[in-house]
Amino acid sequence: MHPTKVVTLSFVAAGLLAVLPSCAMPSRGAATPGGRDAPATRAASTTGSSSVVVEADRLERSGDDRALVAHLERHAGEARSPVARARLELMHARALVRLGRKLSALTVFGRAWHEVEPVVDGVGQDILVAWADHEMSLGQYGDAVGHYELALGARDMGREGARALRASLVVACEAAGRSVRAAEHLEQLDRSGRELLDVTRARLLAGRPRSGERSPYVPVADAFLPRGVIPMNPSLILPGIRAREEWGARPITPDHVPMTPITSITVHHSAMPPPGRWGTIAQLKQIQDIHTQDKGWADVGYHFLVDPTGEVWEGRRLLYQGAHAGGAANIGNVGVCLLGNFESHSVPRPQMQALADLVEALRAHFAIPRAEVRTHREWKATACPGTALHQAVLAYRAGERATLALQ
Ligand SMILES: [Zn+2]
Repeated sequence: MHPTKVVTLSFVAAGLLAVLPSCAMPSRGAATPGGRDAPATRAASTTGSSSVVVEADRLERSGDDRALVAHLERHAGEARSPVARARLELMHARALVRLGRKLSALTVFGRAWHEVEPVVDGVGQDILVAWADHEMSLGQYGDAVGHYELALGARDMGREGARALRASLVVACEAAGRSVRAAEHLEQLDRSGRELLDVTRARLLAGRPRSGERSPYVPVADAFLPRGVIPMNPSLILPGIRAREEWGARPITPDHVPMTPITSITVHHSAMPPPGRWGTIAQLKQIQDIHTQDKGWADVGYHFLVDPTGEVWEGRRLLYQGAHAGGAANIGNVGVCLLGNFESHSVPRPQMQALADLVEALRAHFAIPRAEVRTHREWKATACPGTALHQAVLAYRAGERATLALQ
């Protein structure tokens, strides 16, 4: 269940962590940057960034969250190592949560993770779990799934920690409507783990919006990716997207065109039988073969493919213009293909939910108006994406409700 990409990166980057000083190591003798704002406490006698840590620890123990937040807003960036800064930003985010400043906390969790990304071991895991717990409290269940799953990549997790994390994942997947995924995580839980589920549900879901009454979507990308910028890693727009390396995509050929500013989204279906539970990767490769070998395109034509269980897979990188809507219609147009044939079937709920999450995240990040979400048959005479999916997209475009999943 571990995303291969993450495990590999953690492994590669683990050597890096070993050379980073921990915030627990005082850096006596170093000068305070700029020599300003030394706190008027015992900590002031300690020079260097360790005084920032000492003062933060003191304020946290005193329970004065306002003072702690004020201190960290000014000084967290002065800590000497990424790990130390990450610890301070985690402390900062938790204080914001306690103060009820939920959206600011979301931003600061993102900043904390950005300091150590992609190293999941140690403070990285603490950040991801706390961040995901917070997203659960905001009803951002899909984001929480992504962050809990990243946290699973930590290598030195005790049995208790692994159990608690897996239980949180089951609950998050259930809340996100990803029932197949929830069942997969449930299979990994032993009896003691299953006994944790009720307590975990109560902890993570108490007083939260019920399924179908989601909180307004706040893209995690806001935390550290400037709005409108196309990232190499699409999980910065919607956490949990399975990278193309995970399905063994062949590289794009040189005859591709860079993406211009993104202004629209077009929804397709594969018009193939829906893949079985383990058949998605084979089908993704098959689609890439058809697009590159039969049609002669540079790569798979779509930017994203969504399987029936609600996994979103990266197709052609968003950095490159797609080949899906026909000629000039591809300019600035994100191609999203749902695996299946929706001329003959309705769209499974987890798949529709994932499409909704993806479309909302893309729209938020690139400021795409709702009216610019179309289906393939609106560009040209084709049955794609099948009547069931076409109707769902039309209803979304006209809709008062923000989610496709309600159709
Ligand atoms: Zn199409």
